[in-house]
Amino acid sequence: MDYEAVVGLEVHVQLKTRSKAFSRSRCSYGEEPNGATDPVVLGLPGALPVLNGEAVRQTIRAGLLFHCRIARTTSWDRKNYFYPDSPKNYQITQQARPLCTGGAVEIELPGPARNVQGEHRQIRLNRIHLEEDVGKLTHGDEHSFVDFNRAGTPLAEIVTEPDLRSAAEAAAFLSSVRMHLSAAGISSCDMEKGQMRCDVNVSIRSRGTDGLGTRVEMKNLNSISAVRNAIDREILRQEQILRTGGEIFQETRRWDAARNCSDGMRRKEAARDYCYFPEPDLLPLHLAEELIRKLEEELPERPFDRQRRLQEQYQLPYTLTSVLCPSRPLADFFEAAVQIHGNARAIANLIANDLLREVGASGLHGEDLRLSPGDLAELVAAVDRGELAKQAAQDLLSAIYHSGERPREAMQRLGIGGNGTGHGDLEALCREAMGENARAVAEFRGGKEAAINALKGAVMKKSSGRADPVRVDALLRSLL
Ligand code: ADP
Ligand code: MG
Repeated sequence: MDYEAVVGLEVHVQLKTRSKAFSRSRCSYGEEPNGATDPVVLGLPGALPVLNGEAVRQTIRAGLLFHCRIARTTSWDRKNYFYPDSPKNYQITQQARPLCTGGAVEIELPGPARNVQGEHRQIRLNRIHLEEDVGKLTHGDEHSFVDFNRAGTPLAEIVTEPDLRSAAEAAAFLSSVRMHLSAAGISSCDMEKGQMRCDVNVSIRSRGTDGLGTRVEMKNLNSISAVRNAIDREILRQEQILRTGGEIFQETRRWDAARNCSDGMRRKEAARDYCYFPEPDLLPLHLAEELIRKLEEELPERPFDRQRRLQEQYQLPYTLTSVLCPSRPLADFFEAAVQIHGNARAIANLIANDLLREVGASGLHGEDLRLSPGDLAELVAAVDRGELAKQAAQDLLSAIYHSGERPREAMQRLGIGGNGTGHGDLEALCREAMGENARAVAEFRGGKEAAINALKGAVMKKSSGRADPVRVDALLRSLL
């Protein structure tokens, strides 16, 4: 029997807001335990929730980004359960009337090779709703500790239809969600900080059939590799059970990343176990058409749309756009530099190869970058004028990135202008270049002014871009 996997994801992302979903308590990370709380978060008697408008707007923006229908009337429900991470013993969420329904997320599947574009697919969404996060428990040997700083933080829960067919597709889905939400400033989706967490639902069925098998849910996976491993292992586990004539139970399992396997946790709870009922302290919310239209107009370009546009408009290859476009700051940087100097290919190369190597894994954050698009454009322009060798431009980029100097200042300090320190006699280089470019010499002497550029270029190359272009020009002219 040949089996096919069916996977659906429930992704929780922490929304970028200053305060919590239903109180003015601030959202902060890495703070002293229980510092970022207030009576509402702690569920103290008499404290009442107040809806955070920004959390609603961010959820709607997520819905618009993924082409969901936005509810005109939405409301909140209580999901009741008893556990020490929830001081109120219920979580405010949306069950009956979520903010967003339907829609789809565009994903790119892995290509046949790293530098070849993979197939794109639409993964349908069931809904996106707004809810609050719970606190964090830490278990010691004798005691457990509760930190409510995270409690009440606004989360968007993004629920897919069971459209995914493998661990690789699930990973592609998570990357796409992260890319879209961070581009739009909806969430940073930093999985290490728990800003994006995922429950996976897995079932299998005989290939070629379209009914759904019994699903198993695995909770709170907090890295893309954990999601991949958990799905792969679960598919194998279920196949083994079915092949040996066993039966799969609908259950919730806990993934143990260290052991690379999952353990049964509990039989799946049904909605009635939570006794959902409408949150009596929050009124239903009516959303104005005008607000939704305005939020839609203000959305940034979607990353895959931008990638298609950059490929078309600037004739860039997939290898470059696939580096630039997943990061909005990188793509913005690219387009700002191209506005200043039009050599798109060279600018994209310098960003994708050299700038990115400097920035490293921390990623590019426009605000704290000490190199401006203008600086980068200036370097490429200098190369294009034959004043700087490519290698020298790369060295300068690295220098400027670390020092925060302007290109001219760095050239002087590093002697890339100056007298070509350490690279022999500049005059000798000029003579050498003239000897090797007899034709340019003849043309220049015959009155063709532009022929000097070939000679300048040759000298710059010999000096690895370190010679001062003004001096080279003057020297060549006197020798000629
Ligand atoms: P619950 O709220 O009880 O977790 P939902 O019906 O909302 O359940 O579904 C949760 C997730 O499980 C969704 O992403 C959905 O696509 C997925 N799912 C539902 N049925 C299956 C199935 N048979 N196999 C795999 N995934 C499934
Ligand atoms: Mg669930």
